[in-house]
Amino acid sequence: MSILVLGGAGYIGSHTALELTRGGADVVIADNLITGHKSAIPKNARFYKGDIRDFDFLDELFSKEKIDAVIHFAAFSLVGESVTAPLKYYDNNLCGTKVLLEAMVKHKIDKIVFSSTAATYGEPENIPILESDRTCPTNPYGETKLAMEKMFKWSANAYGLRYVSLRYFNACGADASGTIGEAHDPESHLIPLILQVPNGKRESVSIFGTDYDTPDGTCIRDYIHVTDLAAAHILAVEYLQKGGESDIFNLGNGVGYSVREVIETARKVTAHPIPAVETERRAGDPARLVASSAKAKQVLGWNPVHDSLEEIIQSAWNWHKNHPNGYDE
Ligand code: UDP
Repeated sequence: MSILVLGGAGYIGSHTALELTRGGADVVIADNLITGHKSAIPKNARFYKGDIRDFDFLDELFSKEKIDAVIHFAAFSLVGESVTAPLKYYDNNLCGTKVLLEAMVKHKIDKIVFSSTAATYGEPENIPILESDRTCPTNPYGETKLAMEKMFKWSANAYGLRYVSLRYFNACGADASGTIGEAHDPESHLIPLILQVPNGKRESVSIFGTDYDTPDGTCIRDYIHVTDLAAAHILAVEYLQKGGESDIFNLGNGVGYSVREVIETARKVTAHPIPAVETERRAGDPARLVASSAKAKQVLGWNPVHDSLEEIIQSAWNWHKNHPNGYDE
């Protein structure tokens, strides 16, 4: 029996696929390569190029391979783009997941682990954020992820499948091997943007807003290493394989760092001055997003180990300095 990683050529998908193969799992990857990279796919995984919105593609894949569980990363994930092109997000994220569920039901595949996001909460009610807190997304990206969670809930109820939804906070860092890492185009995330400065690809990094109600005036986020996220997906598959009930878990390391602290740590790691320019707030950014991951720790036995900001940025830097232009293909 195999594990199918949908979107396994993307950032978090490729790190999860790599960890699965290291653990000896038989891994199948499907990706349309719109945002994913062929060279991020582990060598010993079987790769199918195709789109989850294509029922015939999934039907054929599920006929050829004996899939025990699906890990679903195949979605668009740029918040800003989702605001200007919401239907693109509804089409891929929501309609794609509907087609996927139809194919899973047809082939009696009953376990799925799914990447959700802290963006499902919107402006938080409490810090740290609990899974039971209010969900009120402030952008179409978060809205489609929340709608996907609900589609899983009702489908689980009707068709007897079980799911785990993992709400990530700020995914970052790269595999210790230095062979895979983060490569978005366009890049919008803080750590890769900061590292473009010592890589000579930009003059400075912008700090979006310095008048937030936080100790240094800049936004606070919960940065979680991608290898720790990968471990959580594997634990979630094992949880479902052992008969665990459908559930939702936050994944963060429970410590918040400000934009200024992240830049300062990157200066230390790279030994580069990294000039920063203070600019206006970016629309829709809450001041503070920090997870409670107590539930994932208790129920899944998850234990994030790469939790120092310095280690996270060091691993990201190992990747970016050797791959300043991302992947070849
Ligand atoms: N940020 C920033 N400058 C940038 C990119 C991001 O100050 O060039 C800030 C952003 O406002 C947020 C934090 O860095 O407070 C993390 O942003 P990112 O886009 O990486 O992740 P998000 O929290 O939006 O998921």
